[in-house]
Amino acid sequence: MKKILITGGAGFIGSHVVRLFVIKYPEYHIYNLDALTYAGNLENLVDIEKEPNYTFVKGDITDEAFIADLFDKQEFDGVIHLAAESHVDRSIEDPLAFVRTNVFGTVHLLNAAKKQWLNKPEGKRFYHISTDEVYGSLGAEGLFTETTGYDPNSPYSASKASSDHFVRAYGETYDFPFVITNCSNNYGPNHFPEKLIPLFINNIINNKPLPVYGDGNYTRDWLFVVDHASAIDLVFHRGKNHETYNIGGFNEWKNIDLVRLLCSIMDGKLGRPAGKSAELITYVKDRPGHDLRYAIDASKINKELGWKPSVTFEQGLEITVSWYLDNSDWLQHVTSGAYASYYEKQYL
Ligand code: NAD
Repeated sequence: MKKILITGGAGFIGSHVVRLFVIKYPEYHIYNLDALTYAGNLENLVDIEKEPNYTFVKGDITDEAFIADLFDKQEFDGVIHLAAESHVDRSIEDPLAFVRTNVFGTVHLLNAAKKQWLNKPEGKRFYHISTDEVYGSLGAEGLFTETTGYDPNSPYSASKASSDHFVRAYGETYDFPFVITNCSNNYGPNHFPEKLIPLFINNIINNKPLPVYGDGNYTRDWLFVVDHASAIDLVFHRGKNHETYNIGGFNEWKNIDLVRLLCSIMDGKLGRPAGKSAELITYVKDRPGHDLRYAIDASKINKELGWKPSVTFEQGLEITVSWYLDNSDWLQHVTSGAYASYYEKQYL
């Protein structure tokens, strides 16, 4: 039985990856290593937590001794590394937290895997999940490709760029088996409501203002999280060692257009008159260092591995909105306590 370590599996994307691997690969044992920070939530995995091929390990990747000990006790065939501090606004408040987890934490994992796989790298793989934000900002034209130079502008993207570089450097220096993917903005069920789409769904439900940064013209590519998980499955199994793949939805939206679409879906679902939710749109002071546009050229993964998204943005948003409306308990749990004071500081 193959043993696969997935880090950050209690978070948004990680929970979808854990679920997919546990269900699709009964011949694997999946170890989900997560520190359960504010963003980690085991409620995301209640449906699979009792599966015999699943084990949750509570632990912090910044704890070097803990990581070394975990790898001493357990031999892993692969690592899929998603654990990270992931919110740009929080990185502006506290960059060091991002260096600790995203850079030091990644290097601790690399060291432990390198030591374990030193004389037997065949069939092993360290897969680093990263973001398109490492490439910086685009003007009105062009797309990020796998050869676009790194040019990060936020402490979050700088920390992810740094961890990407460490993973690549281990590949070159120690002939370490790795693969990296850089993905655009995800959305879908289990997304913590500090990020745009779940934040706005929650605010529309509660009739709170929808804070749109600047003039709303910031442009992002959006991908349904289940499609990201299927791309991760494909790259983990069929991607080439020492390669990078960009993953995106071929789906660029200006923030303000996205918010209007979301408002109209929510009006329909909540039985409100058309245009009602859009009245909540409020323009707020821009985020410092805000990148104008991200857009991904995902043709390499499409051509080489045959991956493409399975749903349109409109379909994915419908599924997402329905999930939040059907899971009001989940939303209530994650928006009580610490979230309320964070929200107050950030948006009021
Ligand atoms: P998330 O914030 O929802 O989840 C992160 C998870 O990591 C949480 O469960 C948290 O408890 C855990 N974690 C944080 N610090 C830890 C530590 N020190 N030790 C162990 N666990 C820790 O993030 P997400 O949106 O699911 O993103 C997952 C990964 O994908 C990140 O590496 C992120 O950079 C990358 N990514 C995210 C997006 C996106 O749109 N969300 C897009 C591209 C890439």
